[in-house]
Parts: sequence; C-alpha cells; structure tokens
Amino acid sequence: MAWDPSKSEPEEPSEGLPAIRYLRPDALLLDPHTLLKAPVLVVRGSYILEVHRDFPGRWVTPEAFPGELWVAAPLLLHAHLESYDAPSSLWRRESFAQWVSHLLAWREEERLPAPESAWHSLEELRIRGCGLVFTHAGEPQSNGRHFPSWLEAPQFPEVLAAPELFEPDPEQVHEPLKILDQRPPRPGTGLALHAPYSVSETLAKAVFARGRGWAVPVSIHLGEHPEERQFLASGQGPLADCFRDRGRPLKKQRWDSPVAWLQDVGGLHPGTLAVHCGDLDLNELESLAAAGVRMVWCPGTHLYFDRPPVLFGRSDIPLPALGCDSRASNASLDPLREYRLANALAPEAGPVAWWQALTEGGAAALGRGDLGSLGPGKRARFLRLAHEPAKTAEEVCQRLAREADLRPLAPVCEPGHGLGPL
Ligand SMILES: [Zn+2]
Repeated sequence: MAWDPSKSEPEEPSEGLPAIRYLRPDALLLDPHTLLKAPVLVVRGSYILEVHRDFPGRWVTPEAFPGELWVAAPLLLHAHLESYDAPSSLWRRESFAQWVSHLLAWREEERLPAPESAWHSLEELRIRGCGLVFTHAGEPQSNGRHFPSWLEAPQFPEVLAAPELFEPDPEQVHEPLKILDQRPPRPGTGLALHAPYSVSETLAKAVFARGRGWAVPVSIHLGEHPEERQFLASGQGPLADCFRDRGRPLKKQRWDSPVAWLQDVGGLHPGTLAVHCGDLDLNELESLAAAGVRMVWCPGTHLYFDRPPVLFGRSDIPLPALGCDSRASNASLDPLREYRLANALAPEAGPVAWWQALTEGGAAALGRGDLGSLGPGKRARFLRLAHEPAKTAEEVCQRLAREADLRPLAPVCEPGHGLGPL
C-alpha cells in the first residue's frame, strides 16, 4: 500500500535510514511538459517518494524554498575533462586537421596536469548546474577520480568516465585490449573509441564486442566533419595528410560513409553512443536511429567550428542528447548554454523538445531511469533556479532557452548532499 502523508505522523529517523523530508519550492518542472506550482516533494535520502500538487499533510510543515523553481538536473553525454586550460579561442579551425595541429602543439607545452584539469572542468560543470557527465578519458588520470590532495572532490556532477582508445595501427591491438580486459569498466560506466579515422577496425570490432558483452555503452565521435568522410572514402584530405606527417598508418579499406564504417565494425546497434553526427545526411541519421544508436550533439563545439546547420529537429529522427565536449573546442562547460545553443542553432525542434533532450533524453540514452525528471521513484537531483511566474512548462522552457544570464542559484544538489535546511 502506498505511504500516505495525510494519515501518518512524520517518521522519526530510524537507524541507517535517512529521515523523510517535505520540500516546497515555488514551482517544479516535473518533466518537460508538467509545471507544478507550490508542490510538496516528499523525499527520503536522495529519492522522491511522492509529489503532491495539494499537500494533504496535517502533521507536517514543509520546508519552504521561496523564490525557487526546481528542474531536473541536466545530463551531458559527452565531454573530455582534460584540456581545461587550452587556449582554443586563438586556434585556427577552418579545417579540423588545422585544429588538431594546434591541439597537439599545445600538448607539448606546459599546461595543467590532467588531474587538475579534470577538477577544474568538473568544478565548472558543477557550478553551471550539470547533474551527470559522460566523459571520454583520453589521458591518464583525466577520468575525474584522481585529484590533487589540496582540491576537494566535487559531489556533483556524477561522472561516468570511459577510457578513450586512440590507436590506428591494426598491429597494435593487443596492449590496449589487455589493459581493458584487466580493468573492465564498472557497471553503469562505458567504453570509448576516439573516431573511425583514429582506431583500426580490428580494435573497434573488439571494443564493440566487449561493450555488448559487458552491457556498457561504447561512445565514439562519428560523422563530425567532412574531413572524416573524405578520409574514410578516399584516404585523402587534410586529416590523411596529418596522419601521414606523423607517421601514423592510413586505412587500406574504403567506406562511403562513417555509418557504413560503423556497421562494418559491429557498432550499428543499441548501446552505441554516436557523438557529433553534424556531418551526416538524413539517410545516415535514419540508419543510426533505426538501429537504436543514440546520438549526442555538442552545440558549443558546433558553434566553435562554425559548422553548417544540422538536420536535428527538421525530421522525425529523435533529437540527440546534448554534450559539451572540452574547452579545447568550446568556450565553456555549461549545460544551460548548450541548451540555449541547441535552440539557437536548431530552432525547429523547439524549447520543450530540447529540454527533453537535455534531461530525459540523456537519461534514456544511458538507461538511467532514475534521472531526467522528478516524479516519484526518481532521484531528487535538482537544479535550483530563480522562479519567475509562468503558466506552463513550455513558458519555462522558452525562458531557459532565451535567457543567457540565467544562472543556477546553487550547484546541483540532492537532499542530504547540499540541500540543507533553511
Ligand atoms: Zn569529444
């Protein structure tokens, strides 16, 4: 039988079980379509037990949070925590290969060590209101779990880190796979390949097979720019030149599409996260969607490279989840800015659908039913925003899409982790 606050006195905290709390913000965006005014959330620990439009409790005075609108904490499904101090605004990027040469030259210079860079990236994400981030860890100790002793580990965002493999030489698969097999990903995390041009098919096949066996997602940059397509189709172009200059092997086989490559290596199936996808045509996007591949788009990086308009929102293809990539190709690490940019760069979908992509879409792509909205049974992972009266959920989403100076009142929190009593 469901627990009913109107019929029972508030529970005393019992040993080992967090106390029940009754929380009343001015408004709650329960999900992208539902706005509740002065609701009461009944929470125990980090989980929501009940959400009441008209609170029936006789025994309880809820804790009030006046002037606050609570929304589900956004999820960013693609990031890199390294490169926080990359001076990327100075880099030329008319071609992707040109940007790569800047990145590689900068990596030879003195820069923040990976653990510090990861801490700064996470701190920016925390302050900007990110609830969960899925990150490729391309450098040792860049996975957000190694911090210098003088820096406190941030409570949020939750970090799902996947070691990113970059190895184009088909002869060099034994070592990366040995490391992977010795330390398989923890449940709920994932694996990452860099891109079709930078991993051999032998390695990609082995990693996609392991992802299926271990039941974790495999994330890969895919269909990002025309140079990738040219590299796969002809073995020519700026990216191929870049590989030749550095003595890295080119591919012998050819594919007329990054999606054809993905199919060839066994990645065209559910569990694959295809990141960027801005250079894919409608047929290719439909192939990914039909196969159950989840797409992730990073609007800030799309803007950084000044790429052509995307097809998202202009067809029936499900909207991608959103990501922020790294500061090597983005001006900031900020889920609300990515949301605003998604609306600005692909306005056809509209603010409600993009909010859904940022929250429920991200949660669905990772199979995280506990996140993305704020109903009973979900995690009470809130983002607290200044409340301005709105009649509908759509009005709230429109405001979030429009107001560049809208800042969270506090970093993301859960009761017991930062949501203190008044
Ligand atoms: Zn990336």
